[in-house]
Amino acid sequence: MRTPLIAGNWKMNGSTELVEAFGRTFSSAALPSSLEAAIFPPYPYLEAARRAFAETPLRLGAQTLNPLHSGAHTGEVSGRMLREFGVCYALVGHSERRQLYRESDEQVHDRLLAALGVDITPVLCVGETLEERDAGHTMQVVLRQVGYVMARLEPEQRERVIIAYEPVWAIGTGRTATPEQAQEVMAGIRDYQAGFDRDLAAALRLLYGGSMNAGNAAELLAQPDIDGGLVGGASLKVDDFLAICQSA
Ligand code: PGA
Repeated sequence: MRTPLIAGNWKMNGSTELVEAFGRTFSSAALPSSLEAAIFPPYPYLEAARRAFAETPLRLGAQTLNPLHSGAHTGEVSGRMLREFGVCYALVGHSERRQLYRESDEQVHDRLLAALGVDITPVLCVGETLEERDAGHTMQVVLRQVGYVMARLEPEQRERVIIAYEPVWAIGTGRTATPEQAQEVMAGIRDYQAGFDRDLAAALRLLYGGSMNAGNAAELLAQPDIDGGLVGGASLKVDDFLAICQSA
């Protein structure tokens, strides 16, 4: 009943050539019929990706957005602009944005609202650091990040949010969470949502992210509360990304 989503976060990587390779491969790829698959390239490649992916099932996502529509904000890009390029999804609160650019829960919330306001589906990223996990604070941290945003949304806005659980210690490290570790936290997120509304919780799409690859995706995606993946490194290799999509 929940449509799986495999999202490829290219981060500050990629090239026009890579965009074209994805376009070629995915134009003839056999994907599960109910799957959504999307690539989140750096902004300069959005237009090339829109063209290259036109005859493929691939959709487009953005890695962040500015909460304002326009104005004197050198270097920033608004949701309204992204929408013009066919962007369907936007990451908000990726741990690299939280850590490297000091984005607070409040800023994450503002970005998420901005995405909803222009009909872009926000993918809210949450996850604990290794220190937080070792200290036994995983659920507390994750539910604070989820709760700050969700508690400030109207019920109909909550329905449009996708949540990605990405343990910080698993991102780009090759150290994937075990399916059991991921499942435990993700079931906790769904339970938390059930406190607002049981139907909403049952429909909430939850993605796992953190060193997901062609070898471990099937086992992770088989967990009852994992509805898809947010893939970094492995989304830069077209065959690996395709294999992950095919295992969903
Ligand atoms: P990774 O990145 O797959 O390279 O660990 C995931 C992410 O940061 O979204």
